[in-house]
Amino acid sequence: MSIRVESLTKIYGKQKAVDGISFSAQPGVLGFLGPNGAGKSTTMKILTCFIPQTSGTASVCGFDIEKQSLDVRKHIGYLPESNSLYLDMYVKESLGFIAGIHKISSPEKRIAQVIEQTGLGPEQHKKVGQLSKGYRQRVGLAQAILHDPEVLILDEPTSGLDPNQLIGIRQLITELGKTKTIVLSTHIMQEVEAVCDNVIIINKGKIVANDSLQGLRNKNKDISLENIFINLTNN
Ligand code: ADP
Repeated sequence: MSIRVESLTKIYGKQKAVDGISFSAQPGVLGFLGPNGAGKSTTMKILTCFIPQTSGTASVCGFDIEKQSLDVRKHIGYLPESNSLYLDMYVKESLGFIAGIHKISSPEKRIAQVIEQTGLGPEQHKKVGQLSKGYRQRVGLAQAILHDPEVLILDEPTSGLDPNQLIGIRQLITELGKTKTIVLSTHIMQEVEAVCDNVIIINKGKIVANDSLQGLRNKNKDISLENIFINLTNN
């Protein structure tokens, strides 16, 4: 199993943001859904070792997030919700910087591959700050996959993109999900239908559904995913 989470809890002050969740994930795309404030980003930050959990355990590719965080970081790529990029760097320069952090051998070859894969080719000679939102998102994705991690955590990777940009990023996620384990948070139900194999719905820090897309539909008498989401989280 690429990701294993057991009884994970995060309390900020008096606020329980994540409340004893357990789940696992393997290669494919797992939709991580829930209303704003449900605890999605917090879970993603814990899995990527950005913040510590309050209690519970989790592992990524067999490595414990608390005790083996360096190994976890080697095996995971993360596109945070508010992705801070180096705006003054050229696209290739920013990827070179990240390649250096990961100590990637033959960085130029790998950067060229990732530029091709993420469709950054036409914009590769610009500074990151000169790029449109869709292309900046591609830079974020390129950075996240540069070290070819087995697990990718993508926090609302398509928010704010226009329909054409959406299609491009979704195709890339689908392609990557053929070999990698991807946890994808999104509010767009169409996107879930287009790219996800399995779905977890989280509400007020607790998991209220964990199933395949088809399994979720079968259990809910084939009502739309949007209505399933509303029924499970509107309380
Ligand atoms: P989601 O990603 O599902 O929108 P979050 O994980 O961002 O939800 O937030 C879950 C809850 O935790 C929210 O009530 C949010 O206000 C709270 N929260 C998130 N980050 C912090 C923080 N750094 N300090 C205090 N509360 C936080």
